[in-house]
Amino acid sequence: MITQDAPGWELPDWRRQQADLITDPAELLSMLGLAADALPEQLAAARDFPLRVPRAYAALMTPGDPDDPLLRQVMSVPEELLEQPGYTADPLDESDHTPVPGLLHKYHGRALLVVTGACAVHCRYCFRRHFPYQTHLSGKRWEQALAWLSERPDINEVILSGGDPLTLNNRRLGQLLEGLAALPHLVRLRVHSRTPVVIPERLDDGLLALMADPRWRSVLVLHANHPRELSPSLLERTRQWQRAGITLLNQSVLLAGVNDDLETLVRLSERLHEGGIMPYYLHLLDKVQGAAHFAVSDDQARGLHHQLRGRLPGFLVPRLSREEPGEAAKTVLAG
Ligand SMILES: *Cc1c(COP(=O)(O)O)cnc(C)c1O
Ligand code: SF4
Repeated sequence: MITQDAPGWELPDWRRQQADLITDPAELLSMLGLAADALPEQLAAARDFPLRVPRAYAALMTPGDPDDPLLRQVMSVPEELLEQPGYTADPLDESDHTPVPGLLHKYHGRALLVVTGACAVHCRYCFRRHFPYQTHLSGKRWEQALAWLSERPDINEVILSGGDPLTLNNRRLGQLLEGLAALPHLVRLRVHSRTPVVIPERLDDGLLALMADPRWRSVLVLHANHPRELSPSLLERTRQWQRAGITLLNQSVLLAGVNDDLETLVRLSERLHEGGIMPYYLHLLDKVQGAAHFAVSDDQARGLHHQLRGRLPGFLVPRLSREEPGEAAKTVLAG
């Protein structure tokens, strides 16, 4: 057991934060001064997909507000226990696109590596909440993925995903990138992560050095859903990364009660741009069991997107899209 004041402490700050998470719904409610009326159901909903919230993220929530949009993304709720028709455990049929364990190849030229099953935060809307991670873990599996990639010169972009790849430390990531860097046909490195949104210190100098390597054109895709998630300490770092030549994008999920209103989406795009981050996708929810209470209808989504076009320059309007099994790309409903 690690404590904050252990002597000889040498872990970087982000790893300390990652080891000291809020995992008990009762603790989070009490920190925010909220009633625990539904606690038994909240605990039951967290049994299969535990609560996992970094303290820096909880600090961005508004005390006393049970409907806080950040709280809503991470707090287990009774609705998760209801069966909903059409909501399944593997809504994207990802198991059909796995040539070797830990590697997804669905789209032309791009291969996605599931480098870890771990996340710094557990998001209740996540489509991977029932994902069989034990079949996708790292170690020897990385070698198999590298061997597969070495025989696929048509693939020029590798996407690190998960779980969340930035829960791995820089040494592990460095080992993986070294293997990938040896494959000359890979010209773009893309990393998808929500960790910096919940622990901004994860964007440290060691990681920047790995990604700014001139060997690659590097793209970091953050997953932020609400303007209040873009804290000053996060944006200070993203601006530094932008100056270092990393392309920064953001992908959001359109979530009822979190960001399904025009003003929130406008502020999200503006705030992203302050940090040098370009809005990329606004995804419709994947129909995963336990997440139906986050659903926004296609009509409402199209309406919001249309209004966004009327409010923002085109380059700050994300593409409204969804992933559909069997398609050659993500389906764009409105660009
Ligand atoms: C989303 C996704 C990608 C990347 O798609 P882009 O439209 O290029 O962002 C690649 N592979 C898989 C399996 C994906 O789910
Ligand atoms: S994969 Fe992404 S959305 Fe899902 S729990 Fe992890 S950080 Fe959240």
